[in-house]
Amino acid sequence: MSFFDKLVVWSLPLIPKPVVGYFSRHYIAGPKLDDAIAVVKELNAHHAMATMDLLGEESMNKEEAEAAVVEYLHILRAIDEYQLDANLSVKPTQMGLNIDQEYCYQNIRRIVREAKKFNNFVRIDMEDHTTTSATIEMYLKLKQEFGNHVGTVIQAYLRRTSADINLLLKEKPNLRLCKGIYVEAREIAYKDMAIINENYKYNLEKLLSNRCYTGIATHDEKLVWQALMLIEKYGLKKDEYEFQMLLGVDEQLRKIIIDAGHRLRVYVPYGEQWYPYSTRRLKENPRMAGYVFKRIFGLS
Ligand SMILES: Cc1cc2nc3c(=O)[nH]c(=O)nc-3n(C[C@H](O)[C@H](O)[C@H](O)COP(=O)(O)OP(=O)(O)OC[C@H]3O[C@@H](n4cnc5c(N)ncnc54)[C@H](O)[C@@H]3O)c2cc1C
Repeated sequence: MSFFDKLVVWSLPLIPKPVVGYFSRHYIAGPKLDDAIAVVKELNAHHAMATMDLLGEESMNKEEAEAAVVEYLHILRAIDEYQLDANLSVKPTQMGLNIDQEYCYQNIRRIVREAKKFNNFVRIDMEDHTTTSATIEMYLKLKQEFGNHVGTVIQAYLRRTSADINLLLKEKPNLRLCKGIYVEAREIAYKDMAIINENYKYNLEKLLSNRCYTGIATHDEKLVWQALMLIEKYGLKKDEYEFQMLLGVDEQLRKIIIDAGHRLRVYVPYGEQWYPYSTRRLKENPRMAGYVFKRIFGLS
């Protein structure tokens, strides 16, 4: 962690909530579903698809998890009502994974079942390494029942990722490939960015060459370039992959990718829990805090 990033994290509690709110508005659609709908409409008008995420701290009890499930069912109805080009991203711990895996599975299943009715899609986000096996297990079980209406995420920084992808390949998975955002121990995750990037590229090639639908989730232009080369090498059609980016991050690169004719999906988080979520994530991942701070002060 650089000194600059540490400094940003130390100073976070000193920043007044409205100031955090003002600057996090680039990354978070707002507190209400209507805010997210407005952002998605705008993205769709600029030929970007969206994936909608309800922010929330880990659900500590069934009431919280239930409220999140109900909100996701509302989102599906809103997507249908407003004819949005959007799907859902859900977090297993918000669905109750830390309460009980079967309970969490049933909650995600309710959302995926509803998504299938609307001919929509649910991606199960990947959280820290303690959730990886359970998430993959739940995904495979849901995939058996709901086919292509569900997908999950694989993180290039995990040492286990290549083996996971080898096992998943025979299932023709629908995966988002990202670097990984959580702070993990060296035994669990690669720490060297050059290795993470090589691992990303290596595993992306495995997925694309096997024609597994992949969400290429990165703002790293070198990886975007490598992905473009792989797409060309394997002669992939536009509907065999998509690029994915976070709301508010490198909108210029987003436009370049879309203008070149590729599908691109923007991750749109919203919800009342924006403040605990933003500050917790910034503390968890000081590198992210550094990005945000640099953006605030026009340093990048
Ligand atoms: C659509 C999407 C979904 C994701 N889902 C998950 C998930 O389920 N699980 C998980 O662990 N991680 C997830 N991530 C986060 C991901 O793992 C990375 O931490 C994040 O995308 C940064 O990695 P990068 O590939 O962009 O490369 P980096 O090398 O980290 O970043 C490249 C450049 O992009 C810019 N940048 C990147 N991130 C930000 C940011 N947040 N704010 C401002 N600038 C930024 C910086 O300028 C940086 O120099 C997701 C990312 C995306 C795009």
